[in-house]
Parts: sequence; C-alpha cells; structure tokens
Amino acid sequence: MPKHEVRGGEPREYDVAIVGGGLVGASLALALAGSTMRVLLIEGVAPDSSSQPSFDERTTALGNASRRIFQGLGIWEDLAGEAAAIRTIHVSEAGRFGSACLRAAEQGVEAFGHVIPNRVMGAALWRGLRRAGGVTMRVPARVTAVEIAADGAAFSVETADGACETVSARLLVAADGANSVVRAAAGIPAQVEDYAQVAITAAVVTDRPHDGTAYERFTPSGPVAVLPLHGGGYGTVWASEPARAAELLALSDGAYLNALQERFGWRAGRFLRAGRRASYPLRLSRAAATVGMRTVLIGNAAQGLHPIAGQGFNLGLRDAALLAERIATCAGDPGAPQLLGAYSEARAADRGGVVRFTDSLVKLFESRLPGASLLRNLGLVLFDLSPPAKRALARVSLGFGGPTPRLARGLPLT
Ligand SMILES: Cc1cc2nc3c(=O)[nH]c(=O)nc-3n(C[C@H](O)[C@H](O)[C@H](O)COP(=O)(O)OP(=O)(O)OC[C@H]3O[C@@H](n4cnc5c(N)ncnc54)[C@H](O)[C@@H]3O)c2cc1C
Repeated sequence: MPKHEVRGGEPREYDVAIVGGGLVGASLALALAGSTMRVLLIEGVAPDSSSQPSFDERTTALGNASRRIFQGLGIWEDLAGEAAAIRTIHVSEAGRFGSACLRAAEQGVEAFGHVIPNRVMGAALWRGLRRAGGVTMRVPARVTAVEIAADGAAFSVETADGACETVSARLLVAADGANSVVRAAAGIPAQVEDYAQVAITAAVVTDRPHDGTAYERFTPSGPVAVLPLHGGGYGTVWASEPARAAELLALSDGAYLNALQERFGWRAGRFLRAGRRASYPLRLSRAAATVGMRTVLIGNAAQGLHPIAGQGFNLGLRDAALLAERIATCAGDPGAPQLLGAYSEARAADRGGVVRFTDSLVKLFESRLPGASLLRNLGLVLFDLSPPAKRALARVSLGFGGPTPRLARGLPLT
C-alpha cells in the first residue's frame, strides 16, 4: 500500500472508501451500511447546502427497478409522499404528424416510474445513512492526493477547516461524478463527446392539473421533456444549442415561459409560472474501463449521459446496487481483482445498452439528413401501433438490462 506523509498519525484503514456522496455514492453507502465492511464515505458539499451539485433543483424520473432499490434501502416510504407517478408517456416531434402514446395500464404496470425532486432524494438518502449508522462519514471534505497500489489505495481527506487526515482502503469507489479525481488517479481515460447542447431545467405551474403524463417532444434544436410533479405542475428540461440556451437563460420568466410554450405546444395546458432556471452542458462521457487496480467507477464517474431518456441515475443506481451485492457477499477482500473483474463483466451489457440507446436517440432526432425526418415519423407511427416496440420501450423505462441486481428484483442485498 502506498505510504503518504501522514499528518496526525498512521493512516486509518477501511475496507471500502466511497468518494462522492451524491445520488449514486450515497445510495451505495446506504446499501453497505448493514454489511460487515468498514465503509468510509467522503462528500465535498454538505447534503443540505444550496450548492450541492447532485441534490439541486432538478427532478429525476425513476424507473420501477430504482423504486425497488430504494424500497430495499428503506427510504421509499420517505420518498413516496413527494413522488409523482408516470402513468402515460407521450412522445412527439415538432411540426410532424407522428406521435406515440404509451399507457402503463396497457403494459400491465401501475406506473412507468416516478418523478422525484433531487433534493428530496438527497435528503432521504442522508437521513437513511444517519439512521442506519455503520458508515463513517466525512462531509464536507474532499479527497486529494490519491495513490493506488496492488494491495490498496491511500489518499488525503481535507475538511473545510483545513484539517487533513490520511486514509487507506482496500477498495476505492469513484462516485465523484463526471470529472472524477479518482478515475484520473487510477489512470483510466474517459472518452468525451460534446453534444453541443445545453439543458435548461425549470419547474413550471400550469393552468390545469396533470394526469400523470410525461411528455418528450423532439424539436429541430433539441428535445423538451415535461415531467409531472407531485402537488401539480411539471419539471421541464429543454435542450438547445449553446447560443440559444444563453439567450433563453437571459430572458425574464414571462418571456421564457412564452418561448417554452411555443416550443412545446399546449398539450399540458398554459404555462403560468416558472421556478429558478439552471443549465447543464450536455456530453456523453464514457470511462475506458469501469474497474482498475483497487478501484471501481460507478454513476457519472463511469458514464455521463444526455438526459433525453432519463436513464443516467437509473443506470448509476444499478451500478451501486450490484456493486453493494458483490461486496456484501464476498468472503474477504472487496478490492480483489477477481471480484472487480466479475462486477465489471456483469454490468457491461446494461451499461452498453443504455449508453447506445440514449446516444442513438439524441442522434436520430438531431439528424438533418434528407429522409431522416420521414423515418422518424414512420418510427413514431409504427411505434404507436406496434406492441413489441412499446414493450421494448417499457422495459427500458422499467430499468432492466443485463443481470438485475437483487435489490432491483425486490430481494434483500444478501
Ligand atoms: C438536466 C438533467 C436531467 C436529468 N434527469 C435524469 C432523470 O430524469 N433520470 C435519470 O436517471 N437521470 C437523470 N439525469 C442524470 C443524473 O442526474 C446523473 O446520472 C446523476 O446525478 C449521477 O449521480 P452521481 O452521484 O454519479 O454523480 P454526481 O451527481 O455528479 O455527484 C457526484 C458527487 O461527488 C462529489 N465530489 C466530487 N468530487 C469530489 C471529491 N474530490 N471529494 C469528495 N466529493 C466529491 C460532488 O460534490 C457530488 O456530490 C439528469 C441529468 C441532467 C443534467
């Protein structure tokens, strides 16, 4: 194990150190809270801070597999009261005749998923961690000076007041987002493709109650998603070219609502008020590998997706659930190469499938090739008529693919 210059004593030793306590890292920590492993969670920004980057103003569409994972983690009861069920998904393309409507009841499920504010999920996860005990937490604190060797990883944990401790772990988990310092320290490159789109998010209030329909509207400059919220109104995500996004961000609330209404149409009613807008540059980032020596990458540290299909967190949560299962059931060393190799192999199909599905959806609808629009319309119409296509999308919405983690199947972790 690499030796650091130690301030304040010998390195502290853990079995698993999770860097990043955002949506995915906090979920992994909670899943491991009852295990026999000594777990350390380090998060740079306090969970209730207004600058917390994972638990911000966004809303997340959670698939049913993710709901089951949260049930297994014991926090669904905390979330259910703030969750809006998605009972219908409506897909359309601006200026074209095709549209598709998927109804949960026709697919034999109560809902395709639920929409929950990120802040609510973050608060529930951290409450769950404090309730469960068993996980050592350093927050707000940042991980720096990571060194990885064949028998473990050592790194510094720096708190806001300048204190610094040196820690070692048999397994280092990168849950520190798209610009992961752990991924860099592990020497794992990430391939990044800029979509040249910026997503603007805002909650909006409408003049009529919603009926649980989530809308996805494809427009020439990027997609608009309009997701039902608990208590009424919608969470909106509007992706457009960067220059247009800058103009939209500079508009008054009223002018922004008019622009959104013009782009999206009237199927959800009249947009009356908008909450605070936030913006996110959109890119696809893919780590060349999801495991390295004594290291595993999960969530956005492994792959960052366009939000078009609402899959990024759902995929990251399945990373966390399967990793927790493998760690909790391993007889000895959670950072052993065999365990990491088997984990990576088990996640490959789900990861590859969701990345390809999301990326091709972005490219299909932005394609300006002659004939592409006709194909898209035919696709939407066929999709509206064809039960196998609907079932395929319903499966994606439900969050399955590859070996399903036990928690996602409604089973206990071990
Ligand atoms: C507009 C938009 C809408 C989306 N909608 C959906 C949706 O509907 N459904 C869905 O499934 N997904 C959605 N996503 C994707 C989803 O938000 C991400 O997949 C999710 O946030 C990934 O979580 P994460 O914990 O892996 O990473 P992050 O959210 O990036 O969290 C990383 C955490 O690590 C901490 N950190 C970073 N560096 C360090 C360090 N050195 N030391 C300590 N801590 C550190 C950060 O403070 C942060 O808390 C959306 C994304 C966007 C942009």
